[in-house]
Formats: sequence, structure tokens, C-alpha cells
Amino acid sequence: MDLAGAHAQPAAREPAEAWRPLEAEAALANARAAGAALEELRSAARKLRDLGKGRTITYSRKAFFPVTNLCRDRCAYCTFRRDEGEDGAWTMTPDELRAWAERARHLDCVEALLCLGDKPEAAFPGYRRFLASRGHPSTIEYVAEASRIALDCGLLPHSNPGLMTADDLALLKTCNASLGLMVETTSTRLRGKGHAHYYAPDKEPALRLAVLEEAGRQHIPFTTGLLIGIGETPEERVETLVAIADVAQRFGGIQEVIVQNFRAKPEVPMATCDDPSSEELARTVAIARLLLGPDANIQIPPNLSPDALAYLLDSGINDFGGISPLTPDYVNPEAPWPHIAGLARDCGRAGYRLAERPPIYPEFIDRPGFVHPDMRAAVLAARAEIDERNHIGRGSGEEKQR
Ligand code: SF4
Repeated sequence: MDLAGAHAQPAAREPAEAWRPLEAEAALANARAAGAALEELRSAARKLRDLGKGRTITYSRKAFFPVTNLCRDRCAYCTFRRDEGEDGAWTMTPDELRAWAERARHLDCVEALLCLGDKPEAAFPGYRRFLASRGHPSTIEYVAEASRIALDCGLLPHSNPGLMTADDLALLKTCNASLGLMVETTSTRLRGKGHAHYYAPDKEPALRLAVLEEAGRQHIPFTTGLLIGIGETPEERVETLVAIADVAQRFGGIQEVIVQNFRAKPEVPMATCDDPSSEELARTVAIARLLLGPDANIQIPPNLSPDALAYLLDSGINDFGGISPLTPDYVNPEAPWPHIAGLARDCGRAGYRLAERPPIYPEFIDRPGFVHPDMRAAVLAARAEIDERNHIGRGSGEEKQR
């Protein structure tokens, strides 16, 4: 393994400020690291994570709102999307949103994750009529309405509505604690015929990176990440991480990077593709940590790798993302969320402490400009509530039951 020049393994007493990012060439050289080289990579990432984050692993107590599963794209791995009129097609009404949000608050959820397909109004006339009946020219305005319903009920919205313009971002910042868009991959090859994103115009890498940059300009705490195992090469995986790290360095608004693994499902065109191995996931996590540094938040979804959590904890992650006591993972419905108390016990056995966090990472709350004035009171209230739960031990333990 070549980590030369990266200063990726600072001595234990060396301050985090002394860290310098792994260079792109060194990262690429490790794109296929295995055996002893992979162990060296994981060890370097683990030490760097310990330096910036210690042994505390965070999660956000959330409810997942599938605002609409209509989508104009057709990614070859997706089971979430539906066409208008298809079995299971669903757009949540304001009444449904409110009922779910009230239930989520009752269960002490803090985050409302609003997830939906991309630009359904471009493809479906019935959905366009629905938007018009609510007085909305596009889906983004309906997401803003849904966000305000969630806020009204005491939740902090985190919306993930697909590609966003500068105006979309500005609107959603007024009613969201943070926003998200997965880059997934910077491989334009996967936009080609026979590949995962051939029927997905909104997965054009340059368009997605441009959203990250604009969110940075607007000081929006932003979640992004990559999806591994959708046909990209190991080198393309690393190139995606390098691109994300570049935006993070230039704009400073990336609050977390998710490394999500593809899981094959019988009903998708990619049904016979292999799931990425734990080693591939660990290698990607470790390179992400070494590129993004000790203070970055690197996340894996714990429901997608339930048998490899200790291994991944020791590869440099510090976050498990949103976990819901109420709703399933609508993107991977076959993969149940772990129970929070059980996850805390697993973390404890592996030498880590589980703690709750809000959907805007705490370090962004007091950073000038990153919380819209309309959101400040709700964000501060959520922080106080979570601090209290973590203080008395409930952030990593007891759950109210459904
Ligand atoms: S992954 Fe997202 S953009 Fe792709 S088809 Fe599914 S809902 Fe649409």
C-alpha cells in the first residue's frame, strides 16, 4: 500500500489539524487493496477516525416519509419507483404526512426524512394535476409543504428530493435542517446502454456534483455519498470519493458522506448482480476517511450490513445514519432497521459508544449561515432534547414501542 505523503497515520498525540488528505493518486493506487494492504488501510482510517471523532458512533432517530414513489427515472437497481397507475404507486397526502409525523413524534423521532422519486411531474399527468390542486408548480414546492407539516409536528425535516436548482435549494433551506443528494457515482460510463443509469437522466454525474457545489455556496448542511456495486470499477469508486472530497474542501458544506452498498433484489434488472463484499465496503469506507479527514462524518447504513458492523466500525466510520422505530427503509424494505438498544449493545461489545444526533450534525448548528433563521428555534430545541436523552442514557438505549 502506498500512503506516502498523505500524513494519513498521525501519531496518537498529533493534533487533528496536522492531518493532510490522502492524495488522489495514492487513493487510486489503493482502489483494489486486499489482504495486508487492506488491513493497513483500515488501521490508518481507524486511527484517523479516533483522532477526530473518538469512539462515539452516532445515529439519527427518524421516520421515513416516501412523499411520492413516482419517478421519471428508471435506475436498474431500484425497487422504490412506480409509474402512475402501477400497483403500489403512492403520493402521500397532507393528511397522511401529518398523521405519520404525529406518530413519529410520539415515538421521540426527531428527523423527518422526506424521500421521493426525481421529477415525477415531468412524466405523469395525474401527478401534475395533484400538484396543481395544491397550487404547486413543481414537486419541490410540495416537498416544502410536506416539510412544514413535519416541522409543525415537531420534527426536523431532511429532504432528499433528487436534483435541485439554486432556487429549489434556497426554498428548502427555509424549512429543512439539512438536505441530501447522493452522487452515487461519477462514472459517466454507467449512463451508457446496458448500465445502471441508462434510463436515469437525473443521475448525470456533473449535474449532481453541481448541486453539491451550489448547496455549499448557499451554506446548506448537505448529505451525499456513493452507491457501490452498481457496475462501477474500484477505480471509479475512488474517483467518486475524490470528487466528493474536492467539493467538501472547496465549499465546506458536506456534513456527511454515506457509503451505501447495492443489494440485489429479484424484481430489478440487476437481480443477478453480486452484492459488494464487506471487504469492498470496508476499503471504500477507509479510503473515504483518508480522503475526507478526521472530522468528516462517514456513514454506513447498519441495516444493509448487519453481519459486518464491528468490521466496518473498525474501518473508519463514525455514523449509522437514520434509524426508525416507526417506518421501514422504503428503499431496501427487505432490510429491517436494527433496534437501537441492540445496536448500542453491539457497539459496546466492539468498543464503541452509540449516541443520538439531529439530522443537522451538531458541528454545523453554530456555524454562521448554516441554519436558516426560520429553522433556528426548531433546531436548538431538537439539540436540547437529544442532549438530554444522551445525558440520561436514552440516546443509546430504551425505545418506545410502536
Ligand atoms: S433510484 Fe431514485 S432516481 Fe432512480 S429510479 Fe429509483 S427513485 Fe428514481
